[in-house]
Amino acid sequence: MGGTAEFDLIQRIRQRAATRDDVVLGIGDDAALLLPPPGQQLVVAMDTLNAGVHFPAETAPADIGWKALAVNLSDLAAMGATPAWCTLSLSLPRSDATWVDAFLDGFLGLAQSHGVALVGGDTTRGPLSVSVTVHGFVAPGRALRRDAAQPGDEIWVTGTLGDAAGALAQWRTAAEAAAGDGPADPRKAAPGADGGPATVASTALRHRLDRPMPCLAAGHALAGLAHAAVDISDGLLADLGHVLHASGVGATVELALLPTSAALRTAFADNAARWPLQAAGGDDYELCFTAPPEAHAAVMEALAASHTVGGVIGRIDAAPGLRVLAPDGRAWAPPRAGYEHFGLAAD
Ligand code: ADP
Ligand code: MG
Repeated sequence: MGGTAEFDLIQRIRQRAATRDDVVLGIGDDAALLLPPPGQQLVVAMDTLNAGVHFPAETAPADIGWKALAVNLSDLAAMGATPAWCTLSLSLPRSDATWVDAFLDGFLGLAQSHGVALVGGDTTRGPLSVSVTVHGFVAPGRALRRDAAQPGDEIWVTGTLGDAAGALAQWRTAAEAAAGDGPADPRKAAPGADGGPATVASTALRHRLDRPMPCLAAGHALAGLAHAAVDISDGLLADLGHVLHASGVGATVELALLPTSAALRTAFADNAARWPLQAAGGDDYELCFTAPPEAHAAVMEALAASHTVGGVIGRIDAAPGLRVLAPDGRAWAPPRAGYEHFGLAAD
């Protein structure tokens, strides 16, 4: 970005970033100096959010900040790791201190609630884009890998599925409806904007899209207990598919077992409209993991101890392929059009 503007922005970030005892040198030098705990494995993940691709361009800056870190912490959660440090690369169309302050409210708010220190980054001019790297630790042998699912394992998911995709579907419908009548204000035009129950449901769904909660406590409690795990960012079927591929196994999933929020059921009462959101929608940032049936009680305990709701949605099969069963026992596949409509543009 060059010159004073860049320096000022970095100063603002530096003043607000909390530190930790294991940060020897944080923001301000050419690089950070960090002290990993002896005997632990370092776990590193990176994710980028681009305006218009990974979030609607009108998203509030505090929500963008929150989500940019949350999606990264979600990757550490899916490894069973405990986060410690992060770096932040910000590309901004213009040097806007107000925007950066609001962005930091979300980003640092989430960082501080998990004891994560922002230790460095980069600030440049360009289309709005946020890249974050997170670093965490896991004890050797306890990481939850994608390649460790075993035939006979139960398949679990945390939380509820489809809420964020439901919000995105509502937003797109509203944006399309408003397209002919001047500048779109999708929030105002959201279904149920008259203040009735549908509005409450829509607000709850939109919150799930804008403020995903990384399942760090659950991931940590499941490390060394579950076999394989993945976080659900691209949709249950796609992300479970990664586990199946990496593990060389197949699976059967039952739609009737997918956990559903009251808000989603209110907004999408029709199964045919709701199932694609839950099975293929994405942006849930819940965990999908597998564990042997013998560990069922221990998994329930681990989830309860981490204040996380979770349930079984299917099982791992030796035969390859992913079978999705409707409540009547018939095979189900997300409609192709629905898949494209509800999926984000590209990764
Ligand atoms: P350099 O030219 O050596 O890369 P920079 O001016 O890019 O230095 O960065 C100066 C310091 O500020 C570095 O410690 C860097 O990690 C930090 N920094 C720059 N941008 C950010 C940011 N967006 N978030 C956190 N730290 C940042
Ligand atoms: Mg730099």
